[in-house]
Amino acid sequence: MATPAAVTGSKPRPSTSYGPGRRTFRELVGEEMVDIYVGPEEVHFRIHKRILCDRVPYFQKMFTSGFKEGSENAARFPEDDPDSFDMLVDWIYFYNIRGLARMKDSDGNDIITWDPVRFYCLAEKLCLPMVMDNIMDTLRKYHKKMQELPSPDFIYRAYASTSDKSPLRNYCLMTIRYILADLGKDETEEGWPTSEIQKLFKDHDSFASDYITATRDGISGDPRDLPKCFFHVHGEDEPCITNDWNGKRKYYALPQQKHPKKQCLESAGPRASPASPSWSTAAMIGR
Ligand SMILES: [Zn+2]
Repeated sequence: MATPAAVTGSKPRPSTSYGPGRRTFRELVGEEMVDIYVGPEEVHFRIHKRILCDRVPYFQKMFTSGFKEGSENAARFPEDDPDSFDMLVDWIYFYNIRGLARMKDSDGNDIITWDPVRFYCLAEKLCLPMVMDNIMDTLRKYHKKMQELPSPDFIYRAYASTSDKSPLRNYCLMTIRYILADLGKDETEEGWPTSEIQKLFKDHDSFASDYITATRDGISGDPRDLPKCFFHVHGEDEPCITNDWNGKRKYYALPQQKHPKKQCLESAGPRASPASPSWSTAAMIGR
């Protein structure tokens, strides 16, 4: 059996003895719990308050600033999606975002394992740029692997539920540019029929406006092939937080996430909508 190179020629030492010194998991999460009820069905999540507030400034504000939720250690989010919140809880505890995969529903139809639009919408609402950026990385990786691009329905929902200039919207916009400007009719007419694309222009003024801008700026090409930071919320000169994070559960070592513009709920109540991310089509063109 080969000797590992790292220890070849090294003199053995007695094993190091154990001594406390690292922050324990119990210290990380604390002992106090909060109850969160999500969706019209009030799906119940019981989460450690300390880690919830450490990871998500929105909840820090909600549970420590004299709001009713803080005194009751409970909050309700009837308009949000329990499955997306479940994804968020996984991230809160483990910095983990599950990969996307295709599966069959009970009727035998192809579906994917979680909804990127709804999860992105939740992450944007809670001002979690690290989550937003990693959703985009996960989504584009999945689309690349499966040779998919956002469907008209996906794009419709993204424009209906995320903020102006959100990277998810821009990914969708670039998809339609790519479909119409770069690919042939035979390749795309079935998946992206004219009637569905027309609906996007008709129902979303911002989509029409973004499309005109992108066309005038000469934007085209496959959005899956662009560098990942094209679809991140950080500014051009700001560090990419995902460079320190590769999907592994390194939850002891990671820095606190920061919204680029620090606009998240610092001057508003806990239900206020977040401001738009700093990313823009104009910034993208300049890269
Ligand atoms: Zn980046």
